Amino acid sequence: MRAAAGVFCAAVLSGPAGAQPAALPKPELPAKVMAEIKADVLRKHVDTLCGFGTRHTLSSDKVFGKGIAAARDWLQRTFEDCQRSIPGQPLLNVYLDVFEQPPVERMPNGGQIVNVVAVIPGTMPEAAERRYYVAAHYDSIPTDKMDNTSDAPGANDNASGTAALLEICRVLAARPLESTVVLLATAGEEQGLLGARWHAADAKEKGRDVRAVLNNDIVGDPSPAFNGEKGPHAGFVRVFSEGIPSNPRGLQLAEIRRLASESDSPSRQIARYVAEVAAWENTRVKPMMVFRPDRFLRGGDHLAFNDQGFAAVRFTAMGEDYTRQHQDVKEVDGVKYGDRAEYVDAEYLAGVTRLNAATLVHLANAPREPAAVRIVTAKLEAGTIRWEKCPEPDTSGYEVVWRETTSPVWQHSKDVGNVAEARLEVSKDNVYFGVRAYDKDGYRSPVSFAGAAVE
Ligand SMILES: [Zn+2]
Repeated sequence: MRAAAGVFCAAVLSGPAGAQPAALPKPELPAKVMAEIKADVLRKHVDTLCGFGTRHTLSSDKVFGKGIAAARDWLQRTFEDCQRSIPGQPLLNVYLDVFEQPPVERMPNGGQIVNVVAVIPGTMPEAAERRYYVAAHYDSIPTDKMDNTSDAPGANDNASGTAALLEICRVLAARPLESTVVLLATAGEEQGLLGARWHAADAKEKGRDVRAVLNNDIVGDPSPAFNGEKGPHAGFVRVFSEGIPSNPRGLQLAEIRRLASESDSPSRQIARYVAEVAAWENTRVKPMMVFRPDRFLRGGDHLAFNDQGFAAVRFTAMGEDYTRQHQDVKEVDGVKYGDRAEYVDAEYLAGVTRLNAATLVHLANAPREPAAVRIVTAKLEAGTIRWEKCPEPDTSGYEVVWRETTSPVWQHSKDVGNVAEARLEVSKDNVYFGVRAYDKDGYRSPVSFAGAAVE
């Protein structure tokens, strides 16, 4: 990505002549998929979800058409309606995660929790093991987190994200990608990320190759104030990502300190990837990267995946209106409280959904990130970098990317061809390096950050 060029001394960093990104074809599918996402379908989904009265995880299943069980049945049916029979392609797989939650603070008697999951299997044998998620919680709450009977339409939080899952499933089920796509609708989020925690732990236990989770939570209302400024902020969505992994393994923390790689977690590379996709595809809603795991005093399902060591980021609208979030539906002194369907802007939600879908298409059609990327430090020389080549047969080359240590985004890239080692006339002491793979169709992988090795 070269968008940030101009804010630093290019002469110092431009490296050898020809430090250019690969001249790749532009894939056509992301734009096609974005064009198929419809604001009016999203609008209907949000209205339907709000119509269940409450989707509180502890709500009763005794009233016909109301409560979380009715919402879950509708979600399952709507995912199943996305099924397309494509000769030679594995079928969309819709299933329920059903588990018994032991007692916790916001669920003192424990109970059953049900996630709704739709899996679109990948079409390339070498890539199908890799899984890319879009996640959203479908439960809701009113003011009192334990109140399981009052109306809790949860339009923005989080019928909006749930509608995005359904619409992405509708469009992508007809066009399976090389890697596997998972649409995950969780319950128990408002009781402590319970559905996501169970699913992420299960994926870890089963050894699933979860490469990225795009969690959409509050993505329908761009109008509230942001940083004291009044909206609308219809052009932007925040993308939160952790820096230092929440669950570092072994010597990882010491390694992070040695490399000064505190802003180069896999989650952060995914956040940068979202920003790059937005630039490549010129999406109408642009991401604003926020380099922290989530907002103050708040959390979301992506954190449950981070805790299991998976890369995961959170999409959330720019501003927050606390008269709407987690509020009973009421009117006081002319102020309408509650998370009402009327506050969701379907065009904005469509913009966020398109950004998610374009990111998914790029991620799931690209080669995997190169493995074992490292700067060779045995000798005092400029930057020699090595990596392992990717197994996907359509991989056609690699780009080395780099940035100043103070830059938030990759500033330069150089196409080095289909090799596993490159030497650049750029001081390894002054920049961060990474490597990404590309394929013959023009899809680029996320960047693998370069560690260091004495070899
Ligand atoms: Zn939420």
